[in-house]
Formats: sequence, C-alpha cells, structure tokens
Amino acid sequence: MQEQVVRGALVLGLLIPAPHVFAQELRGGPYRSLAIRSAMIIPGHGGPAYGPADILIEGNRITRILQLDPVALGRGGPSERLTGERVIEAGGMYVMPGMIDLHTHIREDPVPLEYVYFMKLAHGVTTIAHGADRGYAHALEQARLEKAGQLHAPRLYPLRGWAPERKRGEPPPPLSEQLRWRDPSEAPALARQVIAEGGHVVSVGEITWNPELFGAVCKAVYAAGGITTIHLPPSTNAVVDAVRAGELGVTMIEHHYGYAESALQRTVQDFPGAYNFNAEDDRFRHAGKVWQQAPLDRLYGEVVDRLVKSGVTMIPTMAVYEANRDIVRAMGLPWHEKYTHKALIDLFYPNPSHHGAYHWDWTSDDEATWSYTYRTWQKLIAEFNNRGGTVGYATDDNYIWATGGISNVRELMLMQEAGLHPLEVIRSATHNSAKILRRPDLGLVQTGYTADLVIVDGNPLHSFRLMYAFGALTRDASGKIVRKGRVRWTIKDGAVFDNDTLMAKVVRSVEESKRAFSDPVKKLFAP
Ligand SMILES: [Zn+2]
Repeated sequence: MQEQVVRGALVLGLLIPAPHVFAQELRGGPYRSLAIRSAMIIPGHGGPAYGPADILIEGNRITRILQLDPVALGRGGPSERLTGERVIEAGGMYVMPGMIDLHTHIREDPVPLEYVYFMKLAHGVTTIAHGADRGYAHALEQARLEKAGQLHAPRLYPLRGWAPERKRGEPPPPLSEQLRWRDPSEAPALARQVIAEGGHVVSVGEITWNPELFGAVCKAVYAAGGITTIHLPPSTNAVVDAVRAGELGVTMIEHHYGYAESALQRTVQDFPGAYNFNAEDDRFRHAGKVWQQAPLDRLYGEVVDRLVKSGVTMIPTMAVYEANRDIVRAMGLPWHEKYTHKALIDLFYPNPSHHGAYHWDWTSDDEATWSYTYRTWQKLIAEFNNRGGTVGYATDDNYIWATGGISNVRELMLMQEAGLHPLEVIRSATHNSAKILRRPDLGLVQTGYTADLVIVDGNPLHSFRLMYAFGALTRDASGKIVRKGRVRWTIKDGAVFDNDTLMAKVVRSVEESKRAFSDPVKKLFAP
C-alpha cells in the first residue's frame, strides 16, 4: 500500500510540469483542474449509478465529487458548480472507472502498436496486462514511455515468464542458469530481481509440471510485490489443475483451462491415443471436450468451493473463444471490414503455422461441443462469483477473430450472459481487477483515486453495446430510432483522450492496410 502511494505521487510529479506535450485534439492534459459536469456516476464497487454530479480532477487525481440531485441541492446553499482549466459537459452521459484488461495481446509486427493501443483506449480500457509479443525488453521500454506520459497507450503491464530472459532467436542460457530458475529455494531472490527490473505480472505456465516450484514461485512473486497468472495448459493439468493452482497460491487463472480437469473422476482427461498436444486443432477441440467429462455435481460443488476458499481469482476471457462455437459468424462479423487490421486477418485466418488459427476443419460437432463448454463454464463463473470468489476481467483479444477493443465490450456482454448483474460485470472490469493487480488507487470513481475514467454517451447498465465505438441502435426521446453511444472520452492519469480522433486514426490505418488486400474471408462466401 505504502509503495503504491509513493508511486502515485511520482506519476503526479512527472506529469504535471509538461501538461501540453500532445496535440490537443487527440490527447489533452493532465490539467491543473478538469471538471466533468452533470454526469451520472457508476462508482465501480457494485453500487448503483447516482447523480447527476460534477467531478473535479486535479493533475491525475479525483479530488472532489459534487452531487447535484434535488435533495443535495436543497441542502446546500447557493448552487455551486465545479469548474476548471478544462470543462467537459457530460449531461446525459455516464462516468465509470477505466477498465483493466488483465490479459490481452499487442501481437507481433506488422500489427501497428498505435492501432492496438487506440482500439483499447477508445473502448474504455485504461490499463492492460499483455503478452510481451515483441519481446520483454521492448515491452518494458513501452511501459516506461507510457509511464512518462510519452506514449498514447493504456497503462502497460507486460507479462514476464518464469525463466531467464533472452531475445527471440537467442540460444538458451547455460543449463546451470536454467536450473537456478527451477530451484524453489532460489525463487525469492529471483522474484525480487524480476520486480526490480520492472516486472509485476509473472506468467507461470511453464512450470506447472513441478508443483513444488510452482507454489514457491507464486508465493515469492507475491511477497516481492507482484502477482502471478496462469494459463493452465492441457499438457500439465494432470499435475496442476485449477484447484491445485489456486491452493498453491497463484493470483489469477486465465481462460477456461483446468476447471473441468479439477472435477474429473479419474486423474487425467480422456485423451484419445492419437492426441498430440502440439497439433492445435486437436488441442482446442479436446480443451472443449473435457467439459463433457466433468461430473457437474463435483464441478459446481467441491471444485467451486475449493476455488473460492483458495482466494484465487478468475479472468475468463470468454470473448476470444467465441469463434469455437460459431466460426462462420466470427469470421464474418460486420466490423472486421472497417476496424480489423489486415495484419490481424492474416494472423487469424486458418493456418497451422499461426498460433490460434486452428479452424481449418472445424466441424458442427466441434461447435456443439463448445456451446456446451460455454454453458458449463459460464455457470461455473456465476457460481464462483455468487459464493464470494473474485471475478476479474480480461479478453485475450487480438487472437482468434477477437478484434482488440471491440472484444472488451463483447466480454462485458458475455459476463452478463454468464449470469452476473451488470453492476457486478462493471465491478469485475474495474474495482475487482484493480485489486487483483494490486493497484488500490485504481478502479473506483471516488475522491483520492487516480483519475482513470470512462465517459459513455449512454447508460452501459442499460446496454453494454452502447460502449462500442460504433454505438448501438436505440430510440430517442421523440421515439425515433437512432444510433447512439460510444465511449466519448477516456481519461487516464488525468489526461483526456478524444475517442472520435483515436477512432478516425484507427479507421485510416485499417483502410491503408487493405489498399491492395484481397480478403480471403470474402472469397469463402463467393459463389
Ligand atoms: Zn493470451
């Protein structure tokens, strides 16, 4: 906690002296004072919306909230309003905390980084934990630039693996160095080193074959101030499944892996003899099928109870696997044309040499399997939430036809589909995820908190679809059907991003990428 306060103060000190580094139209501030006026507020802790209210932000901090409802006005003296160096009139709009996506991807070159960052910001994401897809050193440098206010991006927490660092293509370090990382007694010193180098979120998927090491690393990283995250691979669920991972101390479990495995009657999944973990179509097909092998009484009984008791948190990433239950829909989504970069389409299109591009012979049987997976998995998420487990928020997007940013809205909808109340959904995406990330200054619209805010032109509690950059259909006061919505402004560390400008740049970038592009998906539907 102490350390967080100091870090917050440092950011404030860094940002205030040079508030106008960027062109006003794309990003303004942080300001000495910024007032958001007449907005409805969704606080983020699960409580309902209230307002209207004025919010004052000084530097990168929320310093005052003035309520303007009739009762508050009746109690106060002359009608005071908050004002500042910049004023945003937000009548009819809703303000909620910036969203924290705890697992996403920036992908590799030639996907433009700016395109990835802008899509996230424009859909209300102010913080991401992401795969260091272009190398860890590169990711740390980007995080440093973001922190210094020199990058138009969400706050960046690149994932660090539990292994000696090396660049792509570099040979592995000497065996003695590799073995040091496998020695549980070395975990505390190495964890402190990782954190000192700027790491915070450590991915422990490579060491699930060794429970003793896994447990030692999870505890050491937490003690050093960081958190751990796990994609429980089917290759080692026989050793460490979700319940075991939670009880060994991992902070968060990504995706759907390991839960059904925790409920199996036998100790291993019923893999067919010809199964090859490295054949991705097989891998994803059977990652769905394992849910059919899990006895439901055990899954929703002992498994949920032990997960809750362990204190582990879930980051489901439902948006990214939707292609598995309807691949044609996923490939043909109407927004790909204007908002999905050509380089992403190339990476998504079925191809055995691209990770996550395994739908070359995806059958109706596979889709039926995955529909069952979703029903079963979503009930597990709801049960975990209802019994006191902490559900966080993540998308894993920019993989498998899930376009970054757009999937952030879709994920909210899928959490609602799972059975969470819209207020619980927003709490997961904001307050819960801030707690999981150990950033107690984030995730609430409350005085004293860091000013990471999202201003939606509409009520997301009425429909999350209003948060898409292209809005949604609704009826106006006169009864006319109109398109409305979008996250109009995203505020991060007190800096205001104009999302219309961000999205104009996104559209231009996608347009340019497709100038000489013959879309392979369109050919699939040609006569
Ligand atoms: Zn991922």
